[in-house]
Amino acid sequence: MKLVKSLRFNVWMYFMLFIIIVFVLLWLFQIVFLETFYEKSKIQDVTKVAAKMLDGLDDEDYEDDFHTLAYNNDMCMLVLDKYERIVFSDDFVMGNNCPIHGLNTNVHEFTQAVKSSKSKTIYYKLKNERINTETLLYGTVIGPENNPTGYIFINTPLAPVGSTVTIIKRQMLVITDILIVLGFIISLFVSKMIAKPITKITKSAQKLAEGDYTVEFDGKGYWEVQQLADTLSYASKEISKVDTQQRDLIANVSHDLRTPLTMLKAYAEMIRDLSGDNPTKRAEHLNIIIDETDRLALLVNDMLDLSKLENGGTGLTFSTFGITSKLNEIMDRFKGISEKQGYNIYFEPDEEVEVTCDVVKIEQVIYNLINNAINYTGKDKNVYVKQINMDDGVKIEITDTGDGISEENIKLIFDKYYRSENHKREVVGTGLGLSIVKAILKRHNYAFGVQSTLGKGSTFWFKISTVNVLPPQQKEC
Ligand code: ADP
Repeated sequence: MKLVKSLRFNVWMYFMLFIIIVFVLLWLFQIVFLETFYEKSKIQDVTKVAAKMLDGLDDEDYEDDFHTLAYNNDMCMLVLDKYERIVFSDDFVMGNNCPIHGLNTNVHEFTQAVKSSKSKTIYYKLKNERINTETLLYGTVIGPENNPTGYIFINTPLAPVGSTVTIIKRQMLVITDILIVLGFIISLFVSKMIAKPITKITKSAQKLAEGDYTVEFDGKGYWEVQQLADTLSYASKEISKVDTQQRDLIANVSHDLRTPLTMLKAYAEMIRDLSGDNPTKRAEHLNIIIDETDRLALLVNDMLDLSKLENGGTGLTFSTFGITSKLNEIMDRFKGISEKQGYNIYFEPDEEVEVTCDVVKIEQVIYNLINNAINYTGKDKNVYVKQINMDDGVKIEITDTGDGISEENIKLIFDKYYRSENHKREVVGTGLGLSIVKAILKRHNYAFGVQSTLGKGSTFWFKISTVNVLPPQQKEC
């Protein structure tokens, strides 16, 4: 099994690693490379000063400038003409101890060296044994390389890096000790702090997994953990909602199944015990049994339809047809009820438009909506169906004049088994009608909605899109 290290350990480890890297770098640069660095920067300084001197040689008061340069940069200078006669000299820094100004100096040796060097420039590291000092001697030519008009020599003392290094080393040892101990403590503390909210959330998540939906996710600490806590709180809320919905669903289904079953049993018993010999009563009771069976069949069918739709079980079978003719056809079928029960269903068509969708399922949507409108319309028993052609589709509106639906109920009516408290069971279907409508329209990707005014009625609408229509036979939408 792969060993999984804790966040705390990882944070601590990386922190320590970082400290170690910082120290290694510090040691390397401060101690191992210090001398090289120092010498390189000295060479750079000397080269720069020499360039300035070459530039300034023609100035009238160059001597003052050179003295200032020498003083500021801690350097001795010697400028010779081509016969090696002294033109300018500054030995302020080292006096007689300077290799170019000293008594035993043989400058001629150096001019020869400059001349014979390839780049006509020399850098010598010299040691003055007497005063135990190292110096850097620089020499270059003035004028053309093969026929110089003079020479410039600069000498600068090199500070004793060795002793500096010893001091730094001692300091670094102390700093390293302190920082390693401090780093260890801080990293332990920091890693604990970072891991703490996560450990806390993990504990809460464990509780959630055990089914405790009341658990609080505390994400105090930092942003990412806050996000995680919020997401988990959201998930917990959603899971608890699904859980309650599932319980409600089972309660509803069993209730819906039990009611017609009780009725069936009651009327069957009545026929057996009382009305068996009375043809009129028997027929009446049998009709109730048939109605209840129909209702039961409807409920079971709706449940099956919805579960198939929601689980993606039924694909969509696309066909192209004229929507106005389809609506007219549906209106004809509703004529029966309107005539029998006094409902007035008014249809306001628009121009015929060809649409492509699953005709059977869209018919079911229109059916369910008109059914609801009939069930919930007002005393005038009017229902209005309207076709509105738009640029990108056909909008279908079904309006009733009933009590309307309140804002908060609008959010709920498309949920499974939702029924307002004042619903009338005799007229009302299964509580699944709008859920089926929603599932079908969602699979088609069609917009839909409700506008409702309490006391005035409601308008349910959906829009059959005529753009981006999927080709016929396409299964999924
Ligand atoms: P059912 O009509 O079988 O109860 P639906 O899913 O079709 O189930 O509707 C859910 C609920 O939405 C209904 O119980 C009712 O409260 C409300 N509803 C649906 N259509 C209308 C309407 N046209 N006017 C008022 N309320 C409606």
